[in-house]
Amino acid sequence: MTRQYNFCAGPAALPTAVLERAQAEMLDYRGYGLSTMEMSHRSAEFVAIAERAEADLRALLGVPDNYKVLFFQGGASLQFSMLPMNLLGRGGRANFVQTGIWSKKALAEVQNLGLGGHVAASTETSGNIAVPRQQELDLSDDAAYLHYAANETIGGLAFDYTPRARRPDGAEVPLVCDMSSSILSGPIDVSQFGVIYAGAQKNIGPAGLTLVLVRDDLLDQAQAVMPTLFSYSAMAKAGSMINTPPTYAWYLAGLVFDWLKNDVGGLEAMDAINQRKADKLYAAIDQSDFYSNPITSLNRSRMNVPFTLADARLDGEFLREADAAGLLNLKGHRSVGGMRASLYNAVPEAAVDALTAFMADFEQRKG
Ligand SMILES: *Cc1c(COP(=O)(O)O)cnc(C)c1O
Repeated sequence: MTRQYNFCAGPAALPTAVLERAQAEMLDYRGYGLSTMEMSHRSAEFVAIAERAEADLRALLGVPDNYKVLFFQGGASLQFSMLPMNLLGRGGRANFVQTGIWSKKALAEVQNLGLGGHVAASTETSGNIAVPRQQELDLSDDAAYLHYAANETIGGLAFDYTPRARRPDGAEVPLVCDMSSSILSGPIDVSQFGVIYAGAQKNIGPAGLTLVLVRDDLLDQAQAVMPTLFSYSAMAKAGSMINTPPTYAWYLAGLVFDWLKNDVGGLEAMDAINQRKADKLYAAIDQSDFYSNPITSLNRSRMNVPFTLADARLDGEFLREADAAGLLNLKGHRSVGGMRASLYNAVPEAAVDALTAFMADFEQRKG
């Protein structure tokens, strides 16, 4: 068996140790004589799996007691719609920081629902190469919350700070963060946020599960009319099991949390590894005239590193040779072209070493 290095932006690499454990437990989960996929979600065994996953996640992120941990389906994109439905019931407008494709889509969904939306800051006209600074955030008088994407997965642009969400009158409103592609990459202070959400398929587990952390005081702000399955408070009351949850994805996410806690040694340790990986790749890009990345150094993403070749006609050859060398999924997003290496938690440092060696060799031969 050969596992190649997978730089896919999502669904992304999973830790080999997690897949091995899932494989070992596939036919007979810990003596129960069936796989986790075949268990009732109401069974004591599965409820224990679900509760342990939540407990491990709470321990990893230091989630305060006044936050609910919810497991949804529908991906991060469904949260673009569910957030305004859950948070704008008492009026006010959603405010947005626009730094790339995902934060733009989040605003588009609010507008889709006829709920307006105010752009508090946008870096679109300057090419999304630096995030706006705190003093540039211009919230509306009626802001109900401020939404931003901590890490723009396609552009490779990451916030270097946690914004404060203050209306012009000085009132603080909840901060809502799309952390799909950066959650669990290092420690965060959950108490600074009203809602944090993330699709699982980048840094949590397989696709099909969406994590939502919501502060308790935001559970009663929902619109009067909405589907039960979209309701944060209904989901919280039901322990994320109003209906059948994606049980296998939940189980695998639990294995990833366990791996982070016990194999990696927690988020501080993960943070240091991720920093080393990103530093190595950006150094390789910066010390060459052949490769380049446009993002200002302060806001370069550690998780998604887009780069271009000096001669785009070599893109196809680069990708074919990388593939043959066991470096998979380096093609940039279809909207931007070039290359993108995603360096999520499960991508080992050896993968970055192999990539930078390949890049140096390719440049020497073709540059
Ligand atoms: C991948 C991604 C999404 C979309 O996730 P889905 O689960 O496919 O809906 C949204 N936001 C960010 C930052 C992402 O990286």
